[in-house]
Amino acid sequence: MLWRTHFLGGVITGYLISEPSNALAAMTIGGISALLPDIDSPYSYVGSRLLPTAWALKLTVGHRGIFHSILAAAVIALLLMIVPQDLLLKQVMFVVVFIGYLSHILLDSLSGGTYLLYPVPIKFSVSIIKTGGIIEKLVVVPVLLFFAAWFFIKTVVSLLC
Ligand SMILES: [Zn+2]
Repeated sequence: MLWRTHFLGGVITGYLISEPSNALAAMTIGGISALLPDIDSPYSYVGSRLLPTAWALKLTVGHRGIFHSILAAAVIALLLMIVPQDLLLKQVMFVVVFIGYLSHILLDSLSGGTYLLYPVPIKFSVSIIKTGGIIEKLVVVPVLLFFAAWFFIKTVVSLLC
């Protein structure tokens, strides 16, 4: 999937699992978290900005390997819990990062598949969408953009009222 598809998927999942008071932060963190799994590809949005790391990961663990698994989602979410000071914020951060990261993996399962349960060598794949294909560009991205925009506007309006 394209980076914008993943970002929008993370924004939407961030909204869906958040309280209204922290929805904007959850949408932002969810969107960013959804970009992280592709650190294992130098051709991705994130990987092209961190080329040495992306190439090292691609050559050692491969694209859509361990970094596209529930295990990686949990480890990354645990590592990022270091950022907030408050225990409640740490828990919220874990959930938002974990779910945002997981949204990427689930979307990639629709285009080529992932080893969701890595190191279990079972590929989860319901390949119904070609990455960067016409369905993703003309259907998936506009639908996700519609819901992300709707949730964003709904959140902003509820915060102003
Ligand atoms: Zn990916």
